[in-house]
Amino acid sequence: MRYDSDLLYRPPGEWKSYLLQCTIGCSNNQCTFCGMYKEKKFRIRPTQEILEDIDMARAYYGPGLQRVFLMDGDAIIIKTEDLLRILRKLYDTFPALEKVTLYAGPRSTLSKTPEELKALHDAGLSRAYLGVESGSDAVLKFIHKGVNAQQMLQAGQRLVEAGIDLWVTIILGITGEGGDWREHILSTAQIINEMKPRHLSAMTFAPAKGTPLGDDVLAGRFKVYGPDHILEECRLLIQHLDVDPLHFTSNHASNYLPLKGSLPQDREKFLSLIDQALEGKIRLRKTLNRGI
Ligand code: SF4
Repeated sequence: MRYDSDLLYRPPGEWKSYLLQCTIGCSNNQCTFCGMYKEKKFRIRPTQEILEDIDMARAYYGPGLQRVFLMDGDAIIIKTEDLLRILRKLYDTFPALEKVTLYAGPRSTLSKTPEELKALHDAGLSRAYLGVESGSDAVLKFIHKGVNAQQMLQAGQRLVEAGIDLWVTIILGITGEGGDWREHILSTAQIINEMKPRHLSAMTFAPAKGTPLGDDVLAGRFKVYGPDHILEECRLLIQHLDVDPLHFTSNHASNYLPLKGSLPQDREKFLSLIDQALEGKIRLRKTLNRGI
């Protein structure tokens, strides 16, 4: 129940979850598009403090909590024995608890053995959110993701193999005008097809204030793609995804055309909606709130 600041981030789907702060900031904190934790110096909270927070949450919410999200970034970096203690305490404290979820950094995920990840799953770590962003080595390097595509793939596969429900995000438009967007999209489809997450969210690049890419946009060094091009990227991605079943969403505030459904069943419907939008038959979301 204690938080280091008011700047708390969680995936949109975790709006019902109790937010338990286990880390402060992000262990990578260098992605050029991301401003989420720029003000925070990364650290892991002492386990004892986290366990005390769980008692505070029990006193505040009562025993009926059903979902918990472990914040901030990359809570999977916590030593496995400590994460297991936290999970046990949560499930002991809240008998109705159904899901515990977190953001997983690829490097921290790879630092754990498959056995450790399986133990975490068995102890109730239900879902991990992994920011894949792109399957292209060039793009991952460009945005300073800290891993290459092969490492990202391995991290995702390990989570899936451990039985953890994997939700990945990727970014449309991240190459900027003049970048090799086809390579970005095709290699992204390929990494997703090999990783086989259960959920995929395709966001759209929106420049954030105070980030290196945001500064590049303001200085004219990086040109943001317009809506029609973003729809073309989304179209190409959907055409090449073959994970079955795949819960697909592209309905974040950053997206021009909200899409939500299941692949492959909804493929033709999505493509038709994109085509209608490209023909001007569907009104796109305004760009007013899209970043700086
Ligand atoms: S995108 Fe994720 S890994 Fe990169 S800096 Fe932001 S929170 Fe950290």
